[in-house]
Amino acid sequence: VIVAGAAGLPCPCGRDGHLESIASGPAMTRAYRLAGGSADDLRAVAAAATGGDGAARGILEAGADAIGSALGSVANLLDPELIVIGGGVTGLGADWLDRVRSAAARTTIPLIGALRIETGLLGRAAVAIGAARLARPIPGRLDSTALFPAHAGPSNGSDTP
Ligand SMILES: [Zn+2]
Repeated sequence: VIVAGAAGLPCPCGRDGHLESIASGPAMTRAYRLAGGSADDLRAVAAAATGGDGAARGILEAGADAIGSALGSVANLLDPELIVIGGGVTGLGADWLDRVRSAAARTTIPLIGALRIETGLLGRAAVAIGAARLARPIPGRLDSTALFPAHAGPSNGSDTP
């Protein structure tokens, strides 16, 4: 997803200007370092922001605004009732989530119904749990339908973990 604030910023996918370029943990950490801050990861950037570092705060706010803008654009296209977001950035807390929601509300068109944006229950562990789920052997079901049961057609529920 292209977002205005990411214009010209390199993305890990090889393009530039994508949401990942401005709103991911590594991107915000990199931006903080470029602004003169010292941080090894997003938690350190968040700690700096909490401690009153304006550069850190601005970077986190720009990331939240970008995610909210992207989600608002998605809502304009699909009109979902609920969007659940995950990943390490969701650990930034309630103020960050409120800012994401505000940016989404500024982006959605008036025709869009009430949009809820919530964080996933697994938080930072979501990626690891998902990878473990995919790696877990499933006897007799090693094809893609075992990995993605939603695409396997009608189910009797016996393959539910
Ligand atoms: Zn990209």
